[in-house]
Amino acid sequence: MNPTLKCSCPARGALRPVALAEALLAAQCGDCGGMLMGMDDWRAWKAGDEDRVPHAVDDEIIEVFDATGVRHCPECERLMQRLRVSAGPDFRIDRCVACQNLWFDKGEWRAIVSRGLAGRLDELLSDGWQRRLQTEEVREARLAALRRRYGDECIDELDRIRAWLDTQPHRDELLALLRAD
Ligand SMILES: [Zn+2]
Repeated sequence: MNPTLKCSCPARGALRPVALAEALLAAQCGDCGGMLMGMDDWRAWKAGDEDRVPHAVDDEIIEVFDATGVRHCPECERLMQRLRVSAGPDFRIDRCVACQNLWFDKGEWRAIVSRGLAGRLDELLSDGWQRRLQTEEVREARLAALRRRYGDECIDELDRIRAWLDTQPHRDELLALLRAD
């Protein structure tokens, strides 16, 4: 990676080499702590030796400093895409499609490692995964709205009844009975 790259944070810090894992180098900004990694470097790292891909760490709490604004690629200045890591109010990572670069804000790489996703970035960035997360996010927002409207107790009771109904062989008849006056 170009050694004269500057971060797009307000301090415009210089990006310096940093090891993300054994044999995986990225470039880190000394001011904001963000990191730029080439997907080609990641692919070579992953293909080299599966055993050096770090495993998930249970219950590790990681503070992530996700910048909410759009970011410019330090290499080509194009706008980077913001991609979900999981559904819900979580952080996003930035990708430059042209340069195949990923940007991790401070704490994001560590959070990815801790969730056991360090070796699955290609999957994480795929259209299928991103679409699934989006669908899940919509579903969760709808559920949260229902809970606000009817209250947790009501929705929990509804879930309990639904679960029970699903175990009944005559589920549809029972539902029809419920609706009949
Ligand atoms: Zn770029």
